Amino acid sequence: MANKEDNLKKIISHSKEYGFVFQSSEIYDGLAAVYDYGQMGAELKKNIKDYWWKAMVNMNENIVGLDSAIFMHPTTWKASGHVDAFSDPLIDNKDSNKRYRADVLIEEYVEKIRLKTEKDVAKGIKRFGDALDEAQFRATNPNVLRNQTKIDDINARFKTAMEADDLAGIKTLIEDLGIACPISGSKNWTDVKQFNLMFSTEIGAVADSANTIYLRPETAQGIFVNYLNVQKSGRMKIPFGIAQIGKAFRNEIVARQFIFRMREFEQMEMQFFVRPGEEMKWYEHWKAERVKWHQSLGIDAKYYRFHDHIKLAHYANAACDIEFDFPMGFKELEGIHSRTDFDLKQHEKFSGKKLQYFDPELNESYVPYVVETSVGLDRTFLAILSSAFTEEKLENGTERTVLKLPAFLAPVKVAIMPLTRKDGLPDKAREILNTLKYDYNCNYDEKDSPGKRYRRQDAIGTPFCIMVDHQTLEDNTVTIRDRDTMEQERVSIDKIEAILKEKLDIRKVLD
Ligand code: ATP
Repeated sequence: MANKEDNLKKIISHSKEYGFVFQSSEIYDGLAAVYDYGQMGAELKKNIKDYWWKAMVNMNENIVGLDSAIFMHPTTWKASGHVDAFSDPLIDNKDSNKRYRADVLIEEYVEKIRLKTEKDVAKGIKRFGDALDEAQFRATNPNVLRNQTKIDDINARFKTAMEADDLAGIKTLIEDLGIACPISGSKNWTDVKQFNLMFSTEIGAVADSANTIYLRPETAQGIFVNYLNVQKSGRMKIPFGIAQIGKAFRNEIVARQFIFRMREFEQMEMQFFVRPGEEMKWYEHWKAERVKWHQSLGIDAKYYRFHDHIKLAHYANAACDIEFDFPMGFKELEGIHSRTDFDLKQHEKFSGKKLQYFDPELNESYVPYVVETSVGLDRTFLAILSSAFTEEKLENGTERTVLKLPAFLAPVKVAIMPLTRKDGLPDKAREILNTLKYDYNCNYDEKDSPGKRYRRQDAIGTPFCIMVDHQTLEDNTVTIRDRDTMEQERVSIDKIEAILKEKLDIRKVLD
């Protein structure tokens, strides 16, 4: 565990040192859980967005994009249930005065038990090697079974209490489990309270409650209220989807995990409108499609797992998360929810407008059901960054830190370097830069020794470095260095464009 925490610290400091992520308003000591993306971070983030958009919108004939406003009519949030129910159960420790999410305290407790089980299994594997039938071991080992019963009991009690909105029951569960505050170590807890996560402000010049509006806590509602506009103007036929990337705001209670949990963040959401009764088929379809998308990033499958929701949100009839093994453990990366017709029906009720779709094949009108895929852009960024972050010992005894980012996502695709600043090498290098800059974000670098320059590019994940040297002047060839193998290949300048096109082709990934 210590290693993982160290890793997170390293990633945070690397992000700052190389211009990926800065604390917001740092010169004023920062604003908690708000971050800015620097020169490299902005590029990486943009590339992730483009890739999601391409995979979601361009690759699917029946999915179109939308860019709705952050501010929405306040009744939207009444209809969606956010005004009344978008809250987290919070609990304070009276000795440390620290505030926690009660559900998170319980989830972390359960995760500790799960980790114990994994340790027991790992020990078994070490002892019995290949002879161990892991599934059977899990099904019969007394320690594993005891821990699983514990987990099931806790989850069942938690679910019952949450469903009944029984805040006292949640507190009793925390007390019964003996959960202590990690700061004070004490079990001296306040009662559990509900805390609404929406930020509000006033619209217009007069500050009265009638003018209260909210910063959207999710981008989905902008899609729902526009679904008929898009359907009619785009002559969309069900099933069809609307995709959107945009900011969302939540006044998170516990916000200490770098860009994992922010108060201002970005979501990439797609709402898929289907015939009532067909939603489970599409739910399974999107579960599979979204996993494929994540795996196309080239991250090992062991980093991902599904987690079915124990307590379904008020709008859902099925829901799961794709969890990622972040530096702080397995946590939600994306939510996939079958939202039924809840949202559209609510908007019909509150707006008094019909939101029905006429299905020409069935010759009838209905309110469509919705399957949602909602992934955090910042969490995807962190997943990609943390799995790319590598510290390597090299054969010559030195070390390097390299971001093994998928090449098509790298902030800088090619660095072009003259070996020295003399003999016309910079001019030649700039000539190459001037042909490549239309297609790729390039970096021109002539300072310091080549070794140092390569290290700098490794640290920001640049997949290719082109070195212009004296031989270039004689035969028009350069070396191209590969970030991961560190091998250099000498190629003719007129081949560079074709080579890069082949290596950075996004088609292969999208297929
Ligand atoms: P959590 O349980 O971690 O609070 P959630 O279940 O409330 O997340 P959703 O409402 O399903 O999250 O939002 C969809 C996605 O938006 C999440 O999977 C996550 O990637 C992202 N997201 C939600 N809240 C935040 C946040 N505070 N900071 C960054 N990303 C977030």
